[in-house]
Amino acid sequence: MARKAAPPPSPAPAEEGANPFVDPPLAGARDALANDAAALDRSLRPSAFPDFVGQQGCVENLVLAIRAAKARGETLDHVLLSGLPGLGKTTLAHLVASELGAGLKETSAPALQRAADLAGLLTNLEPGDVLFIDEIHRLPSSVEEYLYAAMERFVIDVVIDQGPGARSLRIDLPRFTLVGATTREGLLAAPFRSRFGLTERLEPYPPADLVRILLRSAGVLGVGLEPDAAAYLAERARGTPRVANRFLKRVRDLAQVTAGNRISRDVAIEGLRRLGVDARGLMRVDRLVLEVLVRADGIPVGLKTIAAAVGEDERTIEDVYEPHLLRCGLMMRSPQGRRATPGAYAALGLAAPRSPREGTLPFDGPPTD
Ligand code: ADP
Repeated sequence: MARKAAPPPSPAPAEEGANPFVDPPLAGARDALANDAAALDRSLRPSAFPDFVGQQGCVENLVLAIRAAKARGETLDHVLLSGLPGLGKTTLAHLVASELGAGLKETSAPALQRAADLAGLLTNLEPGDVLFIDEIHRLPSSVEEYLYAAMERFVIDVVIDQGPGARSLRIDLPRFTLVGATTREGLLAAPFRSRFGLTERLEPYPPADLVRILLRSAGVLGVGLEPDAAAYLAERARGTPRVANRFLKRVRDLAQVTAGNRISRDVAIEGLRRLGVDARGLMRVDRLVLEVLVRADGIPVGLKTIAAAVGEDERTIEDVYEPHLLRCGLMMRSPQGRRATPGAYAALGLAAPRSPREGTLPFDGPPTD
């Protein structure tokens, strides 16, 4: 029998602008914040492969495939890029297009909810174009199936008229390269995945790579960044360039006003403290999630309960917060739910319970929501 988790703490207020680290598409109604985030991403986006730091295997595979396709005078195979938000999928799509010398058309699956949306996009492609579809795991299956023929045979069948007079018209498309990005490769149907000739997975970056990204970004933003300050920020940036760049932008404000536009380690420490990022790199929502788990006292907690308790949507919890807490060994996940590890108690400054439940609780019940 599943035991019920203790009631979660009351929902945290959704502070406007409190969390500048969420992937823009996940930020829902926070339009101004999302626009700001997207503008920062664009301004710091490398414009050539040599400026793209790390992910060596993936970059080598892409560059090789691009060179080979160009040498043969063919379009590049379709590319699937997977990885957590902020790791560089959109950036790579831009780099692929520019290395191919091709145009880039950019959209996101939530904007393609009907086959007609996709048809409009496909019929406007120029020969050789790169079509980038972000969050491709969110395409409705009807649209996804429609895409199959376009990917494989470069045709689409458009249905004209309705009722008994309805007929299908086949339209030839120019050859194009689809670059799909997903944070959830596992949600893609196998037939869809198999239509991508190149599949690359981006991994979180080691701090040394993030230091290089930060130093480059500091140059673009025109702020001085001392190496030990870069290291301090990099170690708390969750392996994610987008988070590192957000830190930099916010800490730059502090440096500009108080430190002659130079970020020292002390400025970095103070800047992150003001952002609510603790010495371990945990953010406000991370700590709220851990509090929910700790209060459950060893009983697995479901995603819905966590999301409701901390005032974030489920996808944000799964895509942004959980991966970091799992990587840090502060959370355990099973089909039954999430539990705190002894490290979670330490991270919250609490003594780990000596209850026999800890570490021995059998995962024998259904999720708590
Ligand atoms: P995703 O599409 O995976 O969410 P983005 O491509 O939008 O991520 O990257 C987020 C930000 O981080 C952008 O400003 C981007 O240029 C920067 N960035 C990501 N990866 C790298 C990298 N390897 N080198 C330099 N900057 C990077």
